[in-house]
Amino acid sequence: MKDAALGYAQAQQAQALDDLLALVAIPSVSTSPAHQPDMARAAQWVADYCQRIGLHNVAVMPTALHPLVYAEWLEAGDDAFTLLLYGHYDVQPADPIEKWHTLPFEPTLKGENLFARGASDDKGQFLAVLKAVEAYLQTSGRLPINVKVFIEGEEEISSPSMGEFIKQHQTQLACDAILICDHPMLAADTPMMYYGVRGNCYMQITVRGPGQDLHSGLYGGAVDNPMNVLARLLAQIQDGITHRILIPGFYDRICDIDDEEKALLNDNLFVSADILKMQTGVPAEAGETGYTLAERLAVRPTFEVCGIGGGFTGEGKKTVIPAEAFAKLSMRLVPDQDPREIADLTQLYLSSRLPSTVTMEVEYLGGSHPVVVDYRHPAVQAAHQAYQQVYGKPAVLMRGGGSLPLMWDFQQILRAPIVMMGMGLPDDNLHSPNEKFFLPNYYRGTETIIHYFDLLAAQA
Ligand SMILES: [Zn+2]
Repeated sequence: MKDAALGYAQAQQAQALDDLLALVAIPSVSTSPAHQPDMARAAQWVADYCQRIGLHNVAVMPTALHPLVYAEWLEAGDDAFTLLLYGHYDVQPADPIEKWHTLPFEPTLKGENLFARGASDDKGQFLAVLKAVEAYLQTSGRLPINVKVFIEGEEEISSPSMGEFIKQHQTQLACDAILICDHPMLAADTPMMYYGVRGNCYMQITVRGPGQDLHSGLYGGAVDNPMNVLARLLAQIQDGITHRILIPGFYDRICDIDDEEKALLNDNLFVSADILKMQTGVPAEAGETGYTLAERLAVRPTFEVCGIGGGFTGEGKKTVIPAEAFAKLSMRLVPDQDPREIADLTQLYLSSRLPSTVTMEVEYLGGSHPVVVDYRHPAVQAAHQAYQQVYGKPAVLMRGGGSLPLMWDFQQILRAPIVMMGMGLPDDNLHSPNEKFFLPNYYRGTETIIHYFDLLAAQA
């Protein structure tokens, strides 16, 4: 079965490319109401494709916002492994359009790259997975495992309706593992798997003093300056030397990692001070005392001031006491920190340090939960073996930086491990002008997934 599928995938590469060209030509920009009809068109395209390759119960299912495409093939039997295949057919806006060398929704081939919005994120990647399904169904009429297909249309706007949808369809979506292909490899010959992502807590702090900006000569010395107060408050959140966060309770829920995972993180040759300096241009690395660079990037929380505003910021000088000052704060969180609890702890801490001369407002602007998957889980180990078959080496295991809010919903509601096998490349220009997909990754991605299905079947 596997060999027939591999042969089919190889022979059908031209058709696979045609299908991808058709899909990326649809401007399914989820954030833009003007593209609503294109969203419907893209969902229908995916549904028609699922129908065409022989999946069952294909449906475009409505949600509170954008529809998702569901399909399944469950003939492998009750005892067989059931894998949920996740992808998203929506894309980021193409702006700034003038920075594109080719039109974002007129897919263009240049050498081995396909340039188009959504080519890598995520149309090319989820279609590579569905091509593996096609290869089995079109050659053997069956798959070695059960699959459920879940292709949503809200990923680029943080999947607002998905948590509710997954809850409502918990039984229909029940599975043994979830496959997400929506991230880059380290290089074209080096696969990488994430086994977790950090979470995030985003807040805005506003300190208010006088009813309007005041003359600093007439009132300086008599009223407090909200900007000064804000700066003092921010300075009390983090120790400047150790980079420890000083909010009581902040670290309470953090789970320590064991020596094996520590070794796994620190053995990664792709994380080094030299690479960091080259990538960022900083004169030296910085971070929490007592942890290595790799640990600080993966399993330790952070605190960042993303922006500060208020008062006079124009050219030249203007002597004012600002009426108010604000700061935007972002904290990266690790298991089992809870974004809302962290926001509450921060508010409590800052309130306890706030002088009575000003008022303060703390707004929680959003967050996501950190997620970790046991990398020793058989479904993750099978992915390693699949990479071994195609790339001659296992994947480098990492914990990811960017958060995928949906992972938490999947994990909490479906209680299944999430396997993340990216097929993109670091220079795919995700969310940027000139997004592209390296086509050899498309074809090898399908091959890898064909092996993966086979390896999962052997485990069951
Ligand atoms: Zn994506």
